[in-house]
Amino acid sequence: SKREKYQGEETMETTFIMIKPDGVQRGLIGDIISRFEKKGFYLKAMKFITVERSFAEKHYADLATKPFFNGLVEYIISGPVVAMVWEGKDVVATGRRIIGATRPWEALPGTIRGDYAVEVGRNVIHGSDAVESAQKEIALWFPEGVSEWKSQMHPWIYEV
Ligand code: GDP
Ligand code: MG
Repeated sequence: SKREKYQGEETMETTFIMIKPDGVQRGLIGDIISRFEKKGFYLKAMKFITVERSFAEKHYADLATKPFFNGLVEYIISGPVVAMVWEGKDVVATGRRIIGATRPWEALPGTIRGDYAVEVGRNVIHGSDAVESAQKEIALWFPEGVSEWKSQMHPWIYEV
């Protein structure tokens, strides 16, 4: 029933965020999770996983014709990643702003890529680029579903 949902839940979105193998190797997991947590977004699912080539190719299927595709797939399968689902108001677009521009030299200081990355092929983190791609990516990475929970802090973060 309505009473069991967040007030203002209609405006809530979910996005898929992945800490790439370089972010894991460099010990950035805690910092990255902290940024999303402290902002006021809710962690709905998380797993530490090394994916197979065919899975990485599926995740990046839209980029299959790009010259950097094979290198990108090699990069993503080179070690474990942290796959996550985050929930919040405008979390897809805001998550992209927290992450920063694809090319780290264009990413502003204060963004994850602006603070921690130099090369586009080692840019630490992935975030869904639209609500529709987020839904596709969440279904691909979390076919088992996500945790439904409500933060007791919700009214301290959201006006409604
Ligand atoms: P994102 O949504 O900001 O991650 O960027 P895209 O969806 O356009 O590309 C996916 C990933 O491919 C990026 O995060 C980069 O790691 C990689 N990538 C994109 N463009 C290039 C490029 O020109 N060269 C290389 N080597 N990698 C790229
Ligand atoms: Mg993308």
